[in-house]
Amino acid sequence: MTKKVIVLGEIRQGELRNVSFEAIAAAKKMADGGEVVGLLLGDNVTNFANEMICYGADRAVTVEHPNLQAYTPDAYSQAVIRVIEIEKPEGLIFGHTALGKDLSPRIAAKVKSGLISDAVDLENNSGEIIFTRPIYAGKAFEKRTIRGGLIFATIRPNNIAPLDKKESRTGEITSIDVDIKDLRTVIKEVVRKTTGGIDLSEAKIIVSGGRGVKSKEGFELLEELANLLGGAVGASRGACDAEYCDYSLQIGQTGKVVTPDLYIACGISGAIQHIAGMSNSKVIVAINKDPEANIFSIADYGIVGDLFEVVPLLIEEFKSVAV
Ligand code: FAD
Repeated sequence: MTKKVIVLGEIRQGELRNVSFEAIAAAKKMADGGEVVGLLLGDNVTNFANEMICYGADRAVTVEHPNLQAYTPDAYSQAVIRVIEIEKPEGLIFGHTALGKDLSPRIAAKVKSGLISDAVDLENNSGEIIFTRPIYAGKAFEKRTIRGGLIFATIRPNNIAPLDKKESRTGEITSIDVDIKDLRTVIKEVVRKTTGGIDLSEAKIIVSGGRGVKSKEGFELLEELANLLGGAVGASRGACDAEYCDYSLQIGQTGKVVTPDLYIACGISGAIQHIAGMSNSKVIVAINKDPEANIFSIADYGIVGDLFEVVPLLIEEFKSVAV
């Protein structure tokens, strides 16, 4: 049974986030030949609508309003609920990002629907949508079948491959007017912490440090390796608690969940709460001087050694390869 599925395009620092294109690919599966509609909210977003179409959306809808310039749950939920009333979709897909995690349950509750959060895959079985999502801190996966109604889902970045971008694709772009009012929050300033401009949750390569890195200066070494590989720096809570780096880098149960192609864990013991945030990385390399460290139980490649000897060797080697 074909469906109409809306995908919220998430714009960050003047660009559509990659997870929005992954969400379009997920929506295509859910729609099963039905219509995928890209939705863009902001004060000047029409130029992004075409990009969503190039990545597979059949058409795009924009809601432009000065109160949508920065994300607030009140303004965004008013806009999306109005779009739902007009478009009457069968599904809505968001990225499992800070915005998606905040906005989707709020709207789902308002329209008295349920939400599948953090899906890593989905399939359409003759109209029934079967979602795969991690449980028990990533130790197992469950399948949830949704048989009807308005389906809300968030999808984990870096799990569903986006469709190829086709510049030649065209589709209708329409705008919807929404009277956005009664806002309880005002965004005065947005302060961003980024690692070399690469968003940790979407990074393909992460060099992550733990308490074994021992200092802020130690993290500079990891930064050098990450920059060389075009990746981002992450951290364990141990390293954040010790003030070697900012909490925005924390990966794990109470930090960010990441699924890069390559995760290099340096001086991290591999506590269950850390593993919860990175165990689905495609290839895990662990560097630890303790051969009994738990991180080796989930690593694809383990290097038993002092990270202050191993990481400089890796930097030297990658530099020579890059030349
Ligand atoms: P440690 O456990 O101290 O490990 C340091 C490692 O570095 C050791 O294995 C050691 O052998 C190695 N090492 C030392 N020196 C060197 C060297 N020179 N070269 C190589 N290796 C070296 N943790 C998270 O990471 N993320 C979370 O989201 C998170 N959430 C939590 C939520 C709750 C409710 C609780 C209770 C805990 C949470 N934790 C989380 C904390 C977690 O339990 C661990 O305490 C933390 O992950 C340990 O960090 P670590 O591995 O850096 O430090």
